[in-house]
Amino acid sequence: MAECREDMDVPGIEVRVIGEPKGKGLFAVKPFKAGDVIFEERPLVCCQFAWNADYGYASCDFCMRPLEGAEENAHRLSGKKDLILPYPQCCPTRKENHCECALCGVRYCCVQCKDEAWAQYHQVLCLRKRERDGSHKLEMLVDVWKNLHYPPETASIMLLARILATVQQAQDKDGAVHLFMQLCHQTVNEQEEIAHKLLGEQFVGQLFTLRKIMSEIFTDQSVQHWLTPEGFQSLVALVGTNGQGVGTSPLSEWVKNVSALKLPQQDKENLDRFIDKLYDDVEEVMGSFLNNEGSALYALQSACNHSCEPNAAPNFPYSNFQLVMCAVRDIAAGEEICVSYLDDCALGRSRHSRHKILRENYLFTCHCSKCESESNEIDVTSEEEGDDGNESESDEEIDD
Ligand SMILES: [Zn+2]
Ligand SMILES: [Zn+2]
Ligand SMILES: [Zn+2]
Repeated sequence: MAECREDMDVPGIEVRVIGEPKGKGLFAVKPFKAGDVIFEERPLVCCQFAWNADYGYASCDFCMRPLEGAEENAHRLSGKKDLILPYPQCCPTRKENHCECALCGVRYCCVQCKDEAWAQYHQVLCLRKRERDGSHKLEMLVDVWKNLHYPPETASIMLLARILATVQQAQDKDGAVHLFMQLCHQTVNEQEEIAHKLLGEQFVGQLFTLRKIMSEIFTDQSVQHWLTPEGFQSLVALVGTNGQGVGTSPLSEWVKNVSALKLPQQDKENLDRFIDKLYDDVEEVMGSFLNNEGSALYALQSACNHSCEPNAAPNFPYSNFQLVMCAVRDIAAGEEICVSYLDDCALGRSRHSRHKILRENYLFTCHCSKCESESNEIDVTSEEEGDDGNESESDEEIDD
């Protein structure tokens, strides 16, 4: 069942109860112009994907800020070790500020991040500390997960671990539980569907294995409600439906910074050519696998419903986990603030295809203005299949 937040207080917006099936929505209480920042927020928890980190995408263990320099990143991604990036002052990485956990060596972009991670969850999750307790369960948990989830990754078991550790470490444990319980919830049947989607055919066995390891790591009374079979499935579903992708890259930061330089025309043209060539080289080696990637849970962002014609979109302008929700067109006071749960490619597809992806991944049928306006259009795909749009899950039409 959807639960709602009434306790968020950000000027210009409010979370409202709008009844089933959506449960709640985020509404503008003042007008916004296209490009305006609607709100900014830090996640409740954030975590880089396991394979992404293994492949050498180095980011702060707390805020996901890149730890590689832009040139270093370009060397790794292009395979060209002698490449020199001009305008080195535009590299965003400040290695002099980097530090690590003295116990386990996990790396951070600055002391602040290290201290905040320690204060929020790292006391429970610090590996060296756990080794002393004779426990390597965390590594085991990540290994089991990695064997289930080859790239492209969409979720992280460590995000679940960080939720439990955050509660376990909190002074006010009930308050910490409440923070996460505010996020969108589903019925038990829906949770099962999401777990199925996230973990694949063997999801029952996998839920059991993951839950068993988690239960051995997290013994505190405050988190036991998430370690029952039902509770664990609800936690997986919570991450599955609310997880927001976060991507950071020192190279794209450098490109952004050099592009803002005031340069003579000729230098500008040379620079553009250099950047085009660099991206071609990188694409040849890495494809589109360029960023530090992870996922995070946000309180306000999770209250934003989907529209195929969104009026807002999340941005990550600080090259870390700080989410900035911006208006993509003018928004009137009273209008619901909607984002797209679909990527640009999926958003450009037919109503039928969009509905299929949304149903499978988010378990709802979209009734946004675009979908309603297209509802009378003849859908070739669904006609051919001889159904009315309520096709079975085995329909593979979107996986082309
Ligand atoms: Zn950081
Ligand atoms: Zn540590
Ligand atoms: Zn729609």
